[in-house]
Amino acid sequence: MTTPPICDYEGSDYQTSFWDKGGRAYEDRTEAIALKRLLPKKGRLLLELGAGAGRNTPRYEGFDRVVLLDYSRTQLEHAQQRLGKSEKYFYVAADVYRLPFVDGLFDTATMIRVLHHIADVPRALLQVKNVMRPGGTFILEFANKLNLKAIFRYWLGKQTWSPFTLDPVEFAKLNFDFHPNAIRYWLDQRDFTIQKTLALSHFRIGWLKRIVPTGILVFLDSILQWTGALWQLTPSVFIKSLRGRPRNIHGEETAPRITSLAAFFKCPDCGFLHLDDRKTYLECLSCRKKWEVRDGIYDFREPMK
Ligand SMILES: [Zn+2]
Repeated sequence: MTTPPICDYEGSDYQTSFWDKGGRAYEDRTEAIALKRLLPKKGRLLLELGAGAGRNTPRYEGFDRVVLLDYSRTQLEHAQQRLGKSEKYFYVAADVYRLPFVDGLFDTATMIRVLHHIADVPRALLQVKNVMRPGGTFILEFANKLNLKAIFRYWLGKQTWSPFTLDPVEFAKLNFDFHPNAIRYWLDQRDFTIQKTLALSHFRIGWLKRIVPTGILVFLDSILQWTGALWQLTPSVFIKSLRGRPRNIHGEETAPRITSLAAFFKCPDCGFLHLDDRKTYLECLSCRKKWEVRDGIYDFREPMK
């Protein structure tokens, strides 16, 4: 089965160059506020899709366990160094188009600053839907093509693509901006029910960030985030949705308690639910593919040779 191309951060110094030294304190702090507003206070098992080096992971402290998923093994190694090896964190290298988890596993999932690298959004959202329990919370961030800067640039003739059309714009290879209506349509198509929308990064403007103290911009952004319910004209948008339709969700279900790995993973290639734990790898009892387990990282990208 072919899957769409994947943006790979293997060996990248993304965490250091973009976040730690890249003057992104403002973006980081506004995201922390949005997460606090949207995330359930506690839960059993959270899936962090595109966890990278674990920048947001400490913000999920109310959850019993967090699965950090990323396509890049080196990013997960950075996350391990930052968070330490503990029962609380699971590290999984896998492809969002072939998630290696059993259906209905997670009560919460987050995908932040990841969608803009995804070429086939409906296909990725179907995978997310499958691994979440009905009524679970999904927090999705996307890069918004309908932002004020893009609108003005388009009107001034400095930009060829229209921010008003529904199709994604690929402004650099595997870097996409999306129209909010397209995202809403895709979520609805996958049976997600939108509950809240926040607009972020009102002040992502280089010179402004240099002259106004970060704390002030963060404070103003935190107030303006709520306007996301009315319009979305900022470069970054957060959507909280429920998996399923409220009328079909009965009671406060929680995700099943995880007692063994066998109850957790499935083979990403053939979908078989039984993987044998051989310590250094998991073996699919159906197709016999072997998935490496090394230094606490489960690797489902390619089977072992
Ligand atoms: Zn298999």
